[in-house]
Amino acid sequence: AKRNGRNGYQFHTQGMNDHVLETLWVDRDLRRALEENQFVLYYQPKIDLVNGRITGAEALIRWQHPTRGLVMPGQFIRVAEERGLIVALGDWVMREACRQNKAWQEAGMAELPIAINLSAQHFRLSTLLRDVKRTLQDHALGADCLELELTESSIMQDAVATIATMRRLTEVGVVLALDDFGTGYSSLSQLKGLPLANLKLDQSFVRGLPDDHDDLAICTAVIAMGQALGLKVIAEGVETPEQLAALRTLGCDVGQGYLFARPLPAAQFMEFVQRHGG
Ligand code: C2E
Ligand code: CA
Ligand code: CA
Ligand code: CA
Repeated sequence: AKRNGRNGYQFHTQGMNDHVLETLWVDRDLRRALEENQFVLYYQPKIDLVNGRITGAEALIRWQHPTRGLVMPGQFIRVAEERGLIVALGDWVMREACRQNKAWQEAGMAELPIAINLSAQHFRLSTLLRDVKRTLQDHALGADCLELELTESSIMQDAVATIATMRRLTEVGVVLALDDFGTGYSSLSQLKGLPLANLKLDQSFVRGLPDDHDDLAICTAVIAMGQALGLKVIAEGVETPEQLAALRTLGCDVGQGYLFARPLPAAQFMEFVQRHGG
């Protein structure tokens, strides 16, 4: 913010003002939101593109703000990272996803792995492995019930520590997925050495299918490469039957997107699974 001697702040664009104001209330309310449990997880199914079955779900956080209603993660995750709250938030997400998964299993729903998103800061912590193991134990869940999604840029922020933690996690059976693949800067040689099971093809490339030649080329290459490296490729942001058809033709393993379902509250997710005979 630039201060003008006589009449205050003048040089912002409206957009900058909006951003500053947004950060202010998020900043003010976020800590209390954690203490008062104002967060909720929505679940979006992942669909096997060969047999149409549900292979799992991704848990996506929302903030039930007392006056602002349902706030999306794009509005508060970055502030949580900047304010040192993201690890506490990630811990809550992990516990809540496991609690919910156990509750679904006890209600007779098919056993499914639930993926959660963890930030770079979380993957740098040497305590992550212990916390994951403890959380699974506390909920009497096997390691195959939890998947962790992280981005290329998360890995590259502190590659040595992050990759070490990733290795230990995979040793105990936790599945790791590389999120938003194609949007980062990692080279193929870096990717080769990573202990990953899944590759999530970013929705920005899926969007242009099947007509955009560049998007088609990128999707083709990523799917072929993922398969050559023995990774399961998950396409994000599948919205149309045409995109689905193109992905199937390319041999993509799994799809996720509004075409199948939006992220759903827990009860609706269970109904969705039961309707689909999962
Ligand atoms: P992401 O991990 O890439 O999650 C996918 C986003 O795409 C979600 O947005 C999801 O609702 C949206 N999406 C799903 N299908 C479609 C589709 O067909 N079309 C379009 N246009 N969008 C689709 P959401 O829930 O707003 O989350 C945004 C981002 O916030 C996530 O991107 C992730 O980076 C972050 N995030 C969400 N939950 C958490 C969390 O618990 N912890 C952390 N650290 N980050 C989270
Ligand atoms: Ca994700
Ligand atoms: Ca993603
Ligand atoms: Ca994304």
